Amino acid sequence: MSELRLDPIKKHWVILAGERAQRPSEFSITVETRSSDECPFCPGHENETPNPILTLSDAAKDGWAARLIPNKFPAVDQIEEELLPVPLPHEVRRGQGRHEVMIESPLHDDRQSRYSTSHLASILGIYQSRIGEFINSFSCRHVTIFTNVGYRAGATLSHPHSQIIGLRQVPGVIERELESAVQHYKMGGSCLFCDLLKADLESGARVIYSTDGFIALCPYASRFAYEFAIYPRWHMADFRDVKAEEMQSFAGFLKACLGAMDVCLNDPDYNVILHSAPAVSDQANLIEAAYHWHLEVIPRVSTQAGMEWGTGIHINSFPPEKVAQSYSRELLRENTIAL
Ligand SMILES: [Zn+2]
Ligand SMILES: [Zn+2]
Repeated sequence: MSELRLDPIKKHWVILAGERAQRPSEFSITVETRSSDECPFCPGHENETPNPILTLSDAAKDGWAARLIPNKFPAVDQIEEELLPVPLPHEVRRGQGRHEVMIESPLHDDRQSRYSTSHLASILGIYQSRIGEFINSFSCRHVTIFTNVGYRAGATLSHPHSQIIGLRQVPGVIERELESAVQHYKMGGSCLFCDLLKADLESGARVIYSTDGFIALCPYASRFAYEFAIYPRWHMADFRDVKAEEMQSFAGFLKACLGAMDVCLNDPDYNVILHSAPAVSDQANLIEAAYHWHLEVIPRVSTQAGMEWGTGIHINSFPPEKVAQSYSRELLRENTIAL
């Protein structure tokens, strides 16, 4: 059973998910280094995971290419039962939602930058359909999709996988992005993200790579060394609205950027997080006009220390303008993109 607790002072929510403590590797100091013989996500171990919701087959190899499964240790659940009230100023809600895992490859040591473009596009397409399913069938208001690669990024299993977590409330990070976007839209009638992309494309200083469809850039106020984000160049709030042919280009674009990161930083641990529009029915038109989906990539090469925890102000020793140049150089040198 999962609970969402609100800190009445700092206003952050915490998920208390007791069952996740039963995971075999909780509190381990390194990522699981089990060989493929012992890995529950490897082929031959399918009976160690819950039954798949969906399987992508690999006709050439007579096996599977990806498996989508319910999380065995979910952070949120679908229990409807009411919680006992807590005395004010505390606030608690049932941690309702849905938590699934996508095993992205049958290869234990695979990396996303090595997937074929069509495989990556298929995975991204499944994300789209799960966002719809979570919103329509599990009453979620927002769906977060992320990948934790390596111990420093929070992975407990090294086999490549991503997680899909749907919540019945809009999480704080998305709420704050939306607040800024809505405020900007109400003042000038334009999308804040589109305006930022236009300014950054004009200056070019932090642009890593751009095509007719997408742009990768290092944020002006990058919190983490070597972080970058990818945006569609046309205005679009909801990731579900990307069409199949656009998804092929997006997958190729993402693969090239991750490849440059892997070369620049020697296969770092990293997080990828998809930010797509929340489903809030009474604000649907405003969200569609003001929000702009994007993907954040955070290599875990720097650490959050006392300053960050104490003040919320990050110290970043790597100016985004220089990082963008390093990534661009790598993209050119590796010739991972068709220029
Ligand atoms: Zn494995
Ligand atoms: Zn926009």
